[in-house]
Amino acid sequence: MLTIIQIPVLTDNYIYVLHDSVSGETAVVDPALAQPVLDVMEAKDWQLTYILNTHHHWDHVGGNLELKQKTGCQIIAAQADWARIPGIDSCVVDGDIISLGQHQARVIETPGHTSGHVVYYFAKNQELFCGDTLFVMGCGRLFEGTAEQMWTSLQKLKALPPSTQIYCTHEYTQANGKFALSVEPDNFQLQQRMIDVAQLRLNNKSTVPSTIGEERATNPFFREDSRSLQKKLGLENQSPVSVFTELRKRKDSF
Ligand code: ZN
Ligand code: FE
Repeated sequence: MLTIIQIPVLTDNYIYVLHDSVSGETAVVDPALAQPVLDVMEAKDWQLTYILNTHHHWDHVGGNLELKQKTGCQIIAAQADWARIPGIDSCVVDGDIISLGQHQARVIETPGHTSGHVVYYFAKNQELFCGDTLFVMGCGRLFEGTAEQMWTSLQKLKALPPSTQIYCTHEYTQANGKFALSVEPDNFQLQQRMIDVAQLRLNNKSTVPSTIGEERATNPFFREDSRSLQKKLGLENQSPVSVFTELRKRKDSF
């Protein structure tokens, strides 16, 4: 079994610790900070085997060097980010498989937020660690990539099984949902979801993970084919990429 621990850090970041109880191997995804990870390792009596980074932003790699120095773990990240991931040991490209005990994750390249973004997909477990590419009811900003690149990346994630659990790196859900409602006010599932989300946040609880299925129903960046959304944007019968581009532009100034 793969145990997943979600550690909330900074304002709205999540770090994920993954532990395979059979082999004892442990990985951490996007350690913004080292100490909260070290605290979990000590409390659980686990040894850190790997750091998996999704991209080079400081709030995803900030703990790399300290963790490597204190635990001797190996750091895995995208080949495209080779020069800017602190302490990187091995690079991965689209389609590579990494193992944590008997669990295997496929690397999917998802450029757009940054040029070197990757996500880690545990197909058997139906678990996706997607960094800043896909958020609950939203997606990452375009810092280095084009709208077309991001759209292509999101299509890869949208095609995963609906029951896939998505573990993103930020708690942006409530703000994302407000934007989603502004472009799809009549989406009943979205309305219902926002009620659930408000309740969770009121109690200071995480809204992550979500599932691909829930995102298909409520995330506007997965819904460029929705007629009512297209109509709201004044982009009926336009290409999916142009609908996505307009959505991303509107969200940036929402
Ligand atoms: Zn980022
Ligand atoms: Fe981030």
